[in-house]
Parts: sequence; C-alpha cells; structure tokens
Amino acid sequence: VTKIGVLTSGGDAPGMNAAIRAVARTGIYYGLEVYGIMRGYSGMIDDDIFHMSTRSVANIIQRGGTILKTARSKEFMEYEGRKKAYENLKKRGIDGLVVIGGDGSFRGAQKFSAEFDIPCIGLPGTIDKDIAGTDFTIGFDTAVNTAVDAIDKIRDTADAHDRLFVVEVMGRDAGYIALHSGLATGAECVLIPETRTNIEDLISQLTEKEKRRKLVNLVVVAEGDEFGGGAEVGKILKERLPNMDIRVSILGHIQRGGSPTCLDRILSSRMGFHAVESLMTGRHNVMVGIIDDQMHYIPLDTAVKEKQSFTSDWLKIIKILAS
Ligand code: ATP
Repeated sequence: VTKIGVLTSGGDAPGMNAAIRAVARTGIYYGLEVYGIMRGYSGMIDDDIFHMSTRSVANIIQRGGTILKTARSKEFMEYEGRKKAYENLKKRGIDGLVVIGGDGSFRGAQKFSAEFDIPCIGLPGTIDKDIAGTDFTIGFDTAVNTAVDAIDKIRDTADAHDRLFVVEVMGRDAGYIALHSGLATGAECVLIPETRTNIEDLISQLTEKEKRRKLVNLVVVAEGDEFGGGAEVGKILKERLPNMDIRVSILGHIQRGGSPTCLDRILSSRMGFHAVESLMTGRHNVMVGIIDDQMHYIPLDTAVKEKQSFTSDWLKIIKILAS
C-alpha cells in the first residue's frame, strides 16, 4: 500500500481519536500518505476526504468523540453506494482502509473489499465490547468507568434515603457494561441480555435484605435485558415490593462521552499502529485485537459472527458478595 484512508463508523466510542492519531502518525512515519474520511462510509460516498499531516491529529489523544465524525450510511448498504465510494478512493489512489467501528461497520468493510479489492483492517471501536477476537474494545473501559462513577454517586443518595435503586446502563445486545459496573459497585443483582433472570429469586433476595435492614440496594440492568430495560424492571419491582422506596435511574449517553481512560488510549494507540503495519505486510480483511496482551488478527467475518465468551460465574460472584 502507498495511500491509506481512515474512518470511524457506527456508534462513537471514547478512544477513537487516539486510534485515528495512531493510524495517521504511524502511516506518515512509514512514508505512506494518509487520508481522513469524514462521517464514516457517508464521507467516502460524498467524497468528504482530506489529506492528513501529523498536525491533523494534534491534541486529540485525550478527547472523547471522533474528529472524523461518525455516521450510519444507508447508501453504503447498496452496491451503487459502495461503487461511488470506491471511485472516490480510486481517484486519489487510496489502496488500503482502516475502519474503526462495530460489527455493522465490519460487515460493510467486508463487502466493500470483496467487491473492489481494497484491503480493509478493522479496529474494534464500540463501548459494548460485543466483538469476538479481543479482550477489550476501544471505548469499553471508559464507558464502564463512567458508569461506575455515576453508580457510586447514586449509591450515596440511596444510602441517605434507604432506597432501592434500579440503574440502567447501555448494552442493547451485550451485558458487559452491566456485568463490569455491577460487580465493581457491589450491586445486588445484574440483569443482562445473555441470560434469563429468575425474578422470584430476586424478589426474595431483596425482601430478605430488607428484613436485615441492608442499607443500600442496587440493581444494575442492561438496556437490552429480557424485561426491556431499567424502567420495566423498576415497574415490576414496585408492584411486587410496594413497601420499598424504589427509584429508577437511566444513565444514557454520558456513557459514550468523556476523556478516554489510560487503558483505552493505550489500546487505541497499539491497535492503530498495528493496523498500519498489517496493511503494509499484506494482511487484509482482518480485525486487530489484543488477547492476553498479544496482538491477534482475526478475519472480519469471524469477528462479526462469534460472540465474546461470556463469564457466567460473575453473576454468582455478584450475588455472594452482595450478601
Ligand atoms: P455500533 O456497534 O456502535 O452500533 P456498528 O459499526 O455496528 O456500530 P452500524 O450502524 O451497524 O454500526 O454500521 C455502520 C455502517 O456500516 C452502516 O451505517 C452501514 O453503512 C454499514 N453497514 C452495516 N452493515 C452493512 C452491510 N451488511 N453491508 C454494507 N454496509 C453495511
């Protein structure tokens, strides 16, 4: 490769900027020309593409969001859209692509490179951690730490009023944010999309805690749990436990924002560097992941199809430690 493009696509995640910076600076270091593509696949179709210098990525390693913006593109789902995108890369001679995004973005990259023979390297950028082939995804650690900070604050007010708080965290299809933040904040119970929750068990657990006058009760719910999120779980608990003071708090988009944690910056920097090296050594259509601190390269389609292994003993640990 001689000229590479970099884009961010799908939901934004803190650390994407650090990854863009790493791709741009590594590429330039190795003598490649690097192009920034705005608004994901939309910018590729609309020809919103600019030449990057090392200065283009100055002072962004610590910033949330993405300087390249992100978008979801309907047009890119169609062959015609992808062809238009290809023409825009071709006229600049861009012959390699780094796509920072989630599973949908990888599906798009796979199709694109199969049709037009442009090697694509994926970097897992999603707060949900719902991609196989890597221990962490860019943005997950920051999102979890934001959730933990918020839940700690809720715990203070819950303590002052002897309340039961149901806290909803992000995670439409994956419960990792809920599992991690629930374990880290001493939640009573965590409800996640991956497993079913026995609501009768939870109610007797909470009733028993009330008898023992446990000070604070926290229930952490992933937005995509089987009952439909925090508000629904709150409603069920209020009906079944009418004597308890139950409040619901939905954390929402604060989990996407903010300055990336050290872990996310390091992850993004290492992955960005290896994405460029991958393109230079002729790898294509793989995702760069890190497992046990070692770089791993798995085919994009495997990353999309396979689920992360789910650590089921965490739920047991959470229950025991909350007694
Ligand atoms: P997140 O996990 O945060 O939702 P994502 O990368 O999964 O991020 P999507 O909206 O699913 O986000 O995908 C981003 C973009 O990738 C889509 O808007 C579309 O342009 C492209 N894309 C997704 N799936 C396909 C597909 N099957 N074929 C072509 N392009 C696709």
